Amino acid sequence: MLIGGLQKFSLLDYPGRIAAIIFTKGCNFRCHFCYNPMLVWPEKKAGRLKNISSISPVKSVSVSNEASQKDHALIREDGLFDFLTKRRNKLEGVVITGGEPTLHKDLPGFIKKIKKLGYLVKLDTNGTKPEMLEKLIKEKLVDYLAMDIKAPEDKYQKVVNARVDFKKIEKSVRIIRESGLPHEFRTTMVPGLLGKEDIEKIGRLIKGADNWFLQKFKGGTDLVDESFQGLSPFKDKEMGEMVKTGRKYAERCEAR
Ligand code: SF4
Repeated sequence: MLIGGLQKFSLLDYPGRIAAIIFTKGCNFRCHFCYNPMLVWPEKKAGRLKNISSISPVKSVSVSNEASQKDHALIREDGLFDFLTKRRNKLEGVVITGGEPTLHKDLPGFIKKIKKLGYLVKLDTNGTKPEMLEKLIKEKLVDYLAMDIKAPEDKYQKVVNARVDFKKIEKSVRIIRESGLPHEFRTTMVPGLLGKEDIEKIGRLIKGADNWFLQKFKGGTDLVDESFQGLSPFKDKEMGEMVKTGRKYAERCEAR
């Protein structure tokens, strides 16, 4: 597994659980607003492996999928598993995020090792690999699923800045909704890319979901597209209006 980062402790990223977060490296999207560019661009790949003892914990942030993450040397798997073994009594879960974890063919084997230690596993995904999701669910390797819904179909490619097979996105939504597992969908509301009019369209795609979080765009940091850095987010009142519309489609819809 190509591991680009580790956050040793989080109370925010796995609902109701104390968790560590593992950041896998590499992504097939290039979302303009992504604030993990070092995990996304292959040319920024660090060339050497680092033991986790020499890496400071990444600071905890309030947005679950895309924690700010500054130390980008690849982390050795053996060091990571030593850490998880030692923390078994303190941590309850492990969040696997990215980048895009489902791109890695060794993900099932990697999670098996984590589950052998007794951890619950939450997986964050962009939904482009439904076949991997099916496998993980079938083999009971995930306990909580979180998928980004980037945009309605007509805007998807523009928002993720890459080619998209939208049928795969739809399939992943279906698999997650029918999995019987606790789950959430998240949409980052970026002014200029998405607006109020998109909430209904996205809502129809995830209708009946457990949770749908509308995430406020955050600028002022390294982003995949630097031209978005100075962009102002939607105001709280605007987010509130969008949440109100979103509540027609999910059991729970909140802004964060
Ligand atoms: S899918 Fe997630 S990790 Fe990949 S570019 Fe988009 S925001 Fe970044």
